[in-house]
Amino acid sequence: MAVNATGRYDDQNVFAKILRGEIPCRKVHEDAHVLAFHDVNPQAPVHVLVIPKGKYVSLADFTAQASDAEIAAFWRAVGSIAKSLGLEEPGYRVLTNAGPDAHQEVPHLHVHIFAGGKLGPMLARPGN
Ligand code: AMP
Repeated sequence: MAVNATGRYDDQNVFAKILRGEIPCRKVHEDAHVLAFHDVNPQAPVHVLVIPKGKYVSLADFTAQASDAEIAAFWRAVGSIAKSLGLEEPGYRVLTNAGPDAHQEVPHLHVHIFAGGKLGPMLARPGN
C-alpha cells in the first residue's frame, strides 16, 4: 500500500525492523550511516536498496533534516555500491519513490539500484 511521504516516521516500518535486526536481509554494504541490501522482490536482475540508518521518511525529509555527514555518506554509498557491483560499465538506474503517486510502500527513505540487463523506458505509462 502506498504511504504518505510527509507523515511522521513509523518505527514499525519494515526497514526499521531490518535496521534493528528483527528481520533478516541480504546485505550488500554497511557503514556508520548506511545499509544496503537486496530487494526481496527484485524488479531487475540486480535490485539493491540503499537506506540511511537514520529515521527519515523520504528524500525531502532526509535532505531537510539529516546532517551533512549522513547525506554525504548516503550518496557516496550509492555510487560506491554501483561501482563495487560492477554496474558502471554496463549501466544502472537509481530511483527513489516518494508518496502515493510514486507508489512509495515503505516509509523509510530508500534508493533503488536497478541493473543487470536492458532496463527499458524510464517510466511506465500512467495508469500502469
Ligand atoms: P517502494 O515502493 O519504493 O517503497 O519500494 C519498497 C521496496 O521494498 C519494494 O521493492 C519491496 O520489494 C522492498 N521490500 C519490502 N520488504 C522488504 C524486505 N523485507 N527486504 C527487502 N526488500 C523489501
